[in-house]
Amino acid sequence: MSDAQHDVIVIGGGPGGYAAALYGASAGLDVAVVEQHKVGGTCLHVGCIPAKELLEAAAVYRTVAGAAEFGVSAGEPSLDWSAVLDRKQQVIDKMMAGLSSVIKQRKVTVYPGVGSLGPSGTVQVAAADGSGLTLLAGSIILASGSVPRTIGGFDVDGELVVTSDELFSISRLPASAAVIGGGAIGCEFASMMGDLGTEVTVLEALPNILTGCDTEVAKTVRRSFRKRGIEVHTGVTVHGHEPRPDRSGTVVSFGEGKQVDVEMVVVAVGRRPRTEGLGLEAAGIELDGRGFVAVDDRCRTTAPGVWAVGDVVDSPQLAHTAFAEGMLVIRDILGEDPNPLDYHGTPWCIYCHPEVAFAGHTEQSAVDAGFDVVTSIHRYMANGRAQILGETDGLVKVVAEKQADGTGGRILGVHMAGPWVTEQLGQAYLAVNWEATAADVAGLIQPHPTMSELFGETVLSLTGRSLHG
Ligand code: FAD
Ligand code: AMP
Repeated sequence: MSDAQHDVIVIGGGPGGYAAALYGASAGLDVAVVEQHKVGGTCLHVGCIPAKELLEAAAVYRTVAGAAEFGVSAGEPSLDWSAVLDRKQQVIDKMMAGLSSVIKQRKVTVYPGVGSLGPSGTVQVAAADGSGLTLLAGSIILASGSVPRTIGGFDVDGELVVTSDELFSISRLPASAAVIGGGAIGCEFASMMGDLGTEVTVLEALPNILTGCDTEVAKTVRRSFRKRGIEVHTGVTVHGHEPRPDRSGTVVSFGEGKQVDVEMVVVAVGRRPRTEGLGLEAAGIELDGRGFVAVDDRCRTTAPGVWAVGDVVDSPQLAHTAFAEGMLVIRDILGEDPNPLDYHGTPWCIYCHPEVAFAGHTEQSAVDAGFDVVTSIHRYMANGRAQILGETDGLVKVVAEKQADGTGGRILGVHMAGPWVTEQLGQAYLAVNWEATAADVAGLIQPHPTMSELFGETVLSLTGRSLHG
């Protein structure tokens, strides 16, 4: 016996879940979403959107602080943190209203409550008021996402020790902070807080920050952090912390006898899949060795009729990957025999200052994969638009397959650090994923003066001829 029946039920209304729901509904399916908190998930409420919004506040602060260089007197910038948080919330609220409206228009049913798998294609919904429902569907999609990882000895209290879940609503910006973890999220927070006046120390266990990025790119960000007074310690283990008696701050111990005295600790050591309470074991759904829901290349779990998408599976933990997986699953449910996703070509964007964007092989990963490679690097210092902006830190690096004459053939990877590179990645992403050659791209015209010209110039150099650099 069930209370309602749908073609597809999605557990979790974040990017993975709502993409599946909207795309499925647009294809004529009757879709329901079970969401325990708010549709939009991590991305809209405590992830991509608030993080980028606060980084934009930091960019405005930098612009005002540097206005005199352009002959514009704006005075010393000052910060009203509560106004910063208000604007962030307004952006979230507007996007939430838009999302809720499209969900309604597509006639997707949203059940508030905690969803879990029941027997024979059912989903149990436990609402906050204690009531429950049993739903039935031919296809079920798990999209329960992820939560911040924590580390022993750093109990998250939302004041002295925070993760990304709490940082977006802290009542004041601390005068000093230790950011544990120099990955994408840690670097975005370090950059934002550092630019808004917090004295930031990044503590990263691995030999470099931004692991997975090209080394030249990571070096560019590190150099800029240093210039802006953001201290970075790499290859250090964090041992623990000793709060001051009045809890106005804490002393963090790391490395070989080193300490840093800060008002706040931001734990940014990655995210773990949220798999608890979903009834996975009873449903015959296996986890992989790292605790993610195990899926095949079409996001099918080990239980027939159940798929999993987004951060709960072991694919790049990005909202756009979740969108793509949500759409892939709907096409599989519809029997359209979709091609699996090519995660290797995923576009990556990190919005710290300077921004980072890349797709495809790094130089090292291309060599490791057995390619004979040739690379080209051009710097924003030589780009007119970047000079005009006064944002000349950064570079474009293109990795291509080396041809017999030494020139570049197929473009294997593009790596950028610099002004607005997250908005410049598009053509590089297409070049990598369309398997374009350097000659193909070099033959195209780039608009002048734009920062995207630098990508064109970098590729042009791989043909053995060049213009400016
Ligand atoms: P989530 O967004 O985590 O959504 C899961 C949803 O499921 C939640 O709403 C949750 O309440 C609900 N849920 C869970 N369990 C149940 C249950 N049992 N019943 C009912 N509901 C349930 N990605 C990018 O692409 N670009 C960025 O710039 C970016 N920046 C980020 C910045 C930060 C600070 C963080 C933390 C993340 C960022 N990400 C970014 C990552 C991105 O937010 C995630 O990859 C994305 O949200 C994953 O989507 P999802 O649908 O898998 O999971
Ligand atoms: P990401 O998964 O990209 O968000 O990055 C998380 C970063 O945190 C990685 O660079 C990890 O090496 C780093 N990290 C994880 N655990 C620790 C730790 N205990 N101390 C310092 N850095 C850590």
